[in-house]
Amino acid sequence: MSAADSTGPAPAAPRRSLVRGALFAGGLSVSLIVGANSLRSETKSPEMPFDAERAYGYLVKICRIGSRMSGSTGMSEQLKLVSEHFQKLGAEVKFQSFDAPHPLTGDPVRMHNILVAWQPQAKERVLIACHYDTRPFPDMDRTNPRGPFVGANDGASGVALFMEMGNHMAKIKPTLGVDFILFDGEELVYDRTGKYFLGSEHFAKQYRDHPPAHTYRYGIVVDMIGDKNLRIAQEKNSVKLAPEPTKSLWAAAKALDVKEFVPKVEYEVQDDHLPLNDVAKIPTCDVIDFDYPYWHTTQDVPQNCDGKSLAKVARVLTYWIQNVPESKRRR
Ligand SMILES: [Zn+2]
Repeated sequence: MSAADSTGPAPAAPRRSLVRGALFAGGLSVSLIVGANSLRSETKSPEMPFDAERAYGYLVKICRIGSRMSGSTGMSEQLKLVSEHFQKLGAEVKFQSFDAPHPLTGDPVRMHNILVAWQPQAKERVLIACHYDTRPFPDMDRTNPRGPFVGANDGASGVALFMEMGNHMAKIKPTLGVDFILFDGEELVYDRTGKYFLGSEHFAKQYRDHPPAHTYRYGIVVDMIGDKNLRIAQEKNSVKLAPEPTKSLWAAAKALDVKEFVPKVEYEVQDDHLPLNDVAKIPTCDVIDFDYPYWHTTQDVPQNCDGKSLAKVARVLTYWIQNVPESKRRR
């Protein structure tokens, strides 16, 4: 499948089309072992004292806002909460605002990507991104598809992860500058054929058309990483489009013995990493636990998430941002 194909509409399936298999597992296992060895020999990586309970508290707090769909009052409330949080911690917080037509009415919806920069003076950087909007309705819910949707895993988990990581960013020494990017408009969609990834697409086009003073060596998108039963296999587009960050991230998990990162390619997912790879040309990996039974249902609530899962992902990310591999290509 080409990159262009993978960004196209998938009428028979939701945006995350699951393609099971282990197409690259053999080849990957070899490079993962090499990667883990080289990481071990090169590095000293102080662990981030990530507080799982506090992270879960952030997740609960975000969900208490209720719906955070793009353009809603809940979204504004969340934006304020998140941006003040990171400002207090000393990060540089910027907003990337734009309008997108509402899929039902065509009226403009004001969107805001949030850009949180650590060591903002660094010219070479990595980005770690999530989406922070929630889907308008839990349309996969069999009994209540127009019921309340708080998106504990699908929305709040990435935000809570970043909020807790932010408490420790001043104490660790990343290889490069680090940006947390929170995308708006990931799923302002009312059916399976809607237009996804409005925020990440806007960000990617801005980066391509109006290059900033810095460059991103790699990107990592996290999505649905708060699941109580965490299991994160590799995603097919990430392996193909962003092999370096993907392999090195799973090598980091191996070095840390975080077994929830399974070094097998198991599915293909359309997510915010696609515009970053295809439009911005930033090799970007998607870290997603797709096997979540409450996906797009009223039951995507904090009780089905766990701070310990967030802590496991944070350990791997922290190790990785202190051991970012060299780039094989130059912009
Ligand atoms: Zn979703």
